[in-house]
Formats: sequence, C-alpha cells, structure tokens
Amino acid sequence: MTQQLTIALSKGRILDETLPLLAAADIFPAEDISRSRKLIFDTNHPHIRLMVIRATDVPTYVEYGGADMGVSGKDVLMEHGGQGLYEPLDLEISRCKLMVAGLKNAGRVEGRMRVATKFVNVTREYYARLGTQVDIIKLYGAMELAPVMGLADRIVDIVDTGNTLRANGLEAMEHIADISSRLVVGQPAMKMKYELIQPIIEQMRAAVIAKREGL
Ligand code: AMP
Repeated sequence: MTQQLTIALSKGRILDETLPLLAAADIFPAEDISRSRKLIFDTNHPHIRLMVIRATDVPTYVEYGGADMGVSGKDVLMEHGGQGLYEPLDLEISRCKLMVAGLKNAGRVEGRMRVATKFVNVTREYYARLGTQVDIIKLYGAMELAPVMGLADRIVDIVDTGNTLRANGLEAMEHIADISSRLVVGQPAMKMKYELIQPIIEQMRAAVIAKREGL
C-alpha cells in the first residue's frame, strides 16, 4: 500500500509563496485553498494531502506526527524550540527580521525594562544572552501599541518594510534574527517515509535555487 503523506501549511503569505515550490515538486491542490474554508485538501496525488492550519500550530502538528512535514516561519520555529523536527530546507520565502523596537528617540530605560511580544521564549533567550533582566509581557497582536500606550518600553516583533513601526511612531533598535520560511519534517516521518519525502525535498530545493539565481 502507498504511504500517506500530509503537508501542513498556513494561509496567507506562506501559502501563496509555497504553492509554486510545491508545484515544482509536482504537487498541486485539487481546489483553490485560499477560497475554501476546508482544512484538508486533496492533491493530484491520491496519497498526498495538504492541511491548512494556523502558522504557530505547524511545528506542533509536525512534531507530534499530526502532519508529516510542513512549512513554517523561522520565527515560529525559534519560538516553538524545534524539538522533534528536521529543518532540511530554507525556502527563502516570507523573508523578514525579528527585531527589538521602541518609541522613536526613546533613549535608555531606567530600571527594569518591560518588553511586550508574542515571542516570549525567543525574547527571554535574547535578553538572557545579553545578561539583561527584563519583564516580558505576552501579547497576541498589535504589539506596536504597547509602547504607545505605556504598557511596555520595547517590543519584539517581525519587521518587513518597517512601515508598521513608522506609522505608529516606533523605530527598530536591535536585530535579533533574519527570518524566512523553512521546510520542516517530523523525525518519525523522515525515518518511515524517507523515500516519499526525499524527492519532494530535492525538487523543492532545485526550485529554490532556480528562483534565487533568476532561472
Ligand atoms: P512591515 O510594516 O512591512 O514592517 O510589516 C510588519 C508587520 O507585517 C509585522 O507586524 C508582521 O506581523 C507582519 N509581517 C511582515 N512580514 C512577515 C512575515 N514574513 N511573516 C509573518 N508576518 C510578517
């Protein structure tokens, strides 16, 4: 019997930029994912399914074998910790930066700094490495508001063009990491389904290289 393979994706930018890479591996969804409310999609291969879930849930599904492989932003992977996952390919899509930001010309913070973020683990590790004691405030969105409203001195957030920061009177202050989306494979899947997975990785790798080199 042919083994089943489930690939976890998330809607939005990652989905849009991943579909052409999957197409290079001859994997096409059977219907338009962005127009559907379904969560599981058939493909042109009877044994391959695509699953569409929240970006932050992709590493968890793949870690526990609920999906065999997936596409996840490095920011999400760093926050998750990456346990139970292989990261065989940088897809070089959805590029951005993880940065510390604060109010423009804010200057030094007296006393213990308050940092608002949804990346609590990454933020804790970042300041621990610097040897700086901070209070971390967990938020789920609109981090940019936190310094404006006096909730926090700094935020740790994703920055692409910097327009969102500027529009809210903030500026980027420190660079934590360059981010792009990665192909992740669960450790059991890599072992049990290697012959199914390996050609997909290699075809996607070839597409990433071709795109990078403008071929
Ligand atoms: P920008 O105004 O271009 O700096 O974009 C900033 C906002 O867009 C951030 O607050 C993020 O929530 C979101 N964003 C930008 N790039 C990405 C990305 N590659 N992945 C996830 N979110 C992103």
